Amino acid sequence: MSRTLFEKIIAREIPAEIVYEDSQLLAFKDIKPQAPVHILIVPKKPIPRIAEAGQWDYQVLGQLLLRAAEVAHEAGLGESGYRLVINNGPDGGESVPHLHCHILGGRKLAWPPG
Ligand code: AMP
Repeated sequence: MSRTLFEKIIAREIPAEIVYEDSQLLAFKDIKPQAPVHILIVPKKPIPRIAEAGQWDYQVLGQLLLRAAEVAHEAGLGESGYRLVINNGPDGGESVPHLHCHILGGRKLAWPPG
């Protein structure tokens, strides 16, 4: 199976502005930001999408959310707030089939989303 764009970023084959890394996760700035702060946090394990995560992935999924909150705080969003978004499948707006959580903030975000 061909490797995903995010696997290539994790392997440093494609450049990205990395803001956080540990043994399980990588966070980097979105190339096409939709808000003043727009960071993606991804598991290094290439789970295609949340619908394909299994029970055995519970530990990395927990870390994904916990670290997303920390990365948001580090990005200066602790007081103002932020949104975490996971797009799943065509109607969800998923374009990269490697699970990732968007961290969006730095402006008032509309609800419901478009
Ligand atoms: P999604 O539409 O939820 O699958 O999100 C994929 C995100 O990846 C989009 O917000 C893109 O702007 C972002 N993206 C695509 N290519 C890159 C890249 N090379 N570096 C950083 N972000 C990227």
